[in-house]
Amino acid sequence: MTSTRFGETVSDRALNDHELDSPAAADQARIDTDLLGRRLLGRWADERLEGRRKAADPEYWRDDTLAMPEHRARTLQQLERLANDGAVNIAFPKAQGGDENHGGNIAGFEELVLADPSLQIKAGVQWGLFGAAVMHLGTAYHHETFLPGIMDFSVPGIYAMTETGHGSDVAAIGTTATYDEATQEWVVNTPFRGAWKDYLGNAALHGRAAVVFAKLITKGVDHGVHAFYVPVRGDDGEFLSGIGGEDDGVKGGLNGIDNGRLHFTQVRVPRRNLLNRYGDVAEDGTYSSPIESPGRRFFTMLGTLVQGRVSLDGASNAAAKAGLAIGVTYANQRRQFTAGDPNEEVVLLDYQVHQRRLLTRLATTYAVAFAHEQLLQHFHGVFSGEHDTPENREDLETLAAALKPLSTWHGLSTLQEMREACGGAGFLAENRVALLHHDLDIYTTFEGDNHVLLQLVGKRLLSDYAEQFKGADPKRVAQIVAGQAAERVFSGSGLRSAAQLVVDRGSTARSVGVLRTPDEQRRLLTDRVETMVADVAVRLGRAKKLSKAEGAAVFNENQHALIEASIAHGELLQWEAFTTALDELPAGSTKQVLTWVRDLFGLGLIERHLAWYLLNGRLSTQRGASVTRYIDRLLTRIRPHAQDLVDAFGYGPDHLRAKIASGAEAERQREAREYLQAERAAGRAPITEKALKARGSNAKLPTESSSTIDVDATGAKPSPASAAADAAEAAEAETEPATDTSPAEEAVAATAATDDADERTAEKRESVSES
Ligand SMILES: Cc1cc2nc3c(=O)[nH]c(=O)nc-3n(C[C@H](O)[C@H](O)[C@H](O)COP(=O)(O)OP(=O)(O)OC[C@H]3O[C@@H](n4cnc5c(N)ncnc54)[C@H](O)[C@@H]3O)c2cc1C
Repeated sequence: MTSTRFGETVSDRALNDHELDSPAAADQARIDTDLLGRRLLGRWADERLEGRRKAADPEYWRDDTLAMPEHRARTLQQLERLANDGAVNIAFPKAQGGDENHGGNIAGFEELVLADPSLQIKAGVQWGLFGAAVMHLGTAYHHETFLPGIMDFSVPGIYAMTETGHGSDVAAIGTTATYDEATQEWVVNTPFRGAWKDYLGNAALHGRAAVVFAKLITKGVDHGVHAFYVPVRGDDGEFLSGIGGEDDGVKGGLNGIDNGRLHFTQVRVPRRNLLNRYGDVAEDGTYSSPIESPGRRFFTMLGTLVQGRVSLDGASNAAAKAGLAIGVTYANQRRQFTAGDPNEEVVLLDYQVHQRRLLTRLATTYAVAFAHEQLLQHFHGVFSGEHDTPENREDLETLAAALKPLSTWHGLSTLQEMREACGGAGFLAENRVALLHHDLDIYTTFEGDNHVLLQLVGKRLLSDYAEQFKGADPKRVAQIVAGQAAERVFSGSGLRSAAQLVVDRGSTARSVGVLRTPDEQRRLLTDRVETMVADVAVRLGRAKKLSKAEGAAVFNENQHALIEASIAHGELLQWEAFTTALDELPAGSTKQVLTWVRDLFGLGLIERHLAWYLLNGRLSTQRGASVTRYIDRLLTRIRPHAQDLVDAFGYGPDHLRAKIASGAEAERQREAREYLQAERAAGRAPITEKALKARGSNAKLPTESSSTIDVDATGAKPSPASAAADAAEAAEAETEPATDTSPAEEAVAATAATDDADERTAEKRESVSES
């Protein structure tokens, strides 16, 4: 592979571990962006590239100048075009012209977020929710009758689950569907205002039919929530009899989608409109289901609709990747302040804090990407039938519930950081990140609110914990409990930490060395999950003998701890996915750089949770401090590869569509530098007022045509380093120092003054800082 971006071209020769891990290797190693890019495209590379082809088509792009009504109309047209363009129906049954390619479908679909998130989500409502509900909850009759209109978009649809009164707790919705044996019809009804369906995509304007979730009642028995196919609008676009609704209006983002409310007053639909895969009613009103337990039936039904979560996991990360590609490219071109060289301003990404902000998020983005690929493969395995077992379905739901919160939060936090990292330019619509942030905000809430999902994960972790006691003889149970007790004693007494201190005292280098081994990172991350789950389990175990109300109170007291444990579990999954992906890469520079990135992610997690590791005696303070030091070293090593790492995401100018990532900033910088160099070479550059004063009365005065503003020859404000010298000079001359210096400049200046032991200068700077 070759790369010339940061210096001479270096071949990807097989460097040995020692060479690769030396600081010099940071400059030598080069990433093979093609190799890494292919790895990131994953198993469904062709489908993903097809999604990117669409996302690069201007017809699908978001037009930031449109008001809500026009944006909605444009998104509607885009969906019609998508239906004709093909490849949006590949997950549907072969009998209906689909390809039953579930993983490929999601891989391509999630890339649409870069065209316009409104387009992605409106398409998701049509084919991923409305269509998928008919496919997964319905049977052959529904597939043959309803899927063709859904697939070709002649029947725009609504997925009507949420109600104003109940979003996260779907089991408690108020809408009912009561069977009328006399007419063999369902009577769908909204009994009170809180049971209005709300926030539904396509409901305000475009939806013609809906999959309505309602409590199935027959022969006076409530069998819980089921799904019904209900036409809602006629060909004239008006509501059918008994159906009403409202427009949700302008939202915080995604304004290309017509979200709205629906309510039903004794609306009748045929018996066969019940999507009856998991529960059916005979003509005489007798209810039957292949799943005996109502609770398990409900969760099985909801579980079939996991694909929305899977796709949000990927789409959030696609947006994070695009944000980073914009942020890193800009940070590699944008310059602010001079430092060592008075004529050369510093590139933003050379500042340590900028590296912290961008590169730590870059590392997490890689972790999220590899974890998402595993999730996608698991999802495909279950829904294609390749690995469809109850255990795999359960694992899939837990995996999606663990990863979706982390990736949607990460996407948002990354876009916000890129917004700030690009300064004022980051706030302009033409640079994408601010508006992407608005649109992706709600990804943390729909398809399962993040905090609610993490509680599902926590419950699964607790049941897995309890599982180890199942069938174990009393001796084994005693051993497990004793082991955990010992763990707690060790943690509490700090014995572990004492033992570790002995190791640490020997050599700091050794303690750093231990931390960067994958085994040690895995041990620390796993230990935290296990200990947190065990702690909650032990506390909840004590509640078993309490009343229901007291038990609920104890659960509530541990809710935060349980969610933290779930997050820790999700982070461990991401770290493991990253490590597995590394194992699959061939030895060489690409693998080495990516190992540093994985270490940055792993040690970043340990640093973020350092308080826990210290409080629980898992790390000594000495080793804890070395985590931050090693992260700082990793940032320096990864920095030269930052552009390659974002280039490997594979997004071109038509995906990013950000003016600041187009090379325009580099061109501006080049023009300014050439101009200033030419001015200096020709002796036309004005002398600064400060320099003039420093030279004293013999100084040559600036020419008439010269500018007299207080900038140096590069046009920059004083840098942190030069500010130190300038401030000393100013103090010497007993003049007022410049007031446009930054806090950082003042800090550096103050340090320089202390080093010089110049008390008078230091006092002066302090007074400037205060002002
Ligand atoms: C733009 C948009 C599009 C949507 N599209 C659709 C659609 O097409 N179809 C559809 O059916 N729905 C749709 N929704 C609804 C969405 O799925 C719900 O908003 C979501 O499930 C959350 O429900 P809620 O709004 O009632 O919030 P709530 O469930 O009331 O949650 C509010 C807050 O309370 C917290 N909370 C809730 N329960 C607990 C608990 N037990 N412990 C601790 N904290 C808790 C949550 O974490 C959250 O922060 C959409 C929503 C939006 C905004």
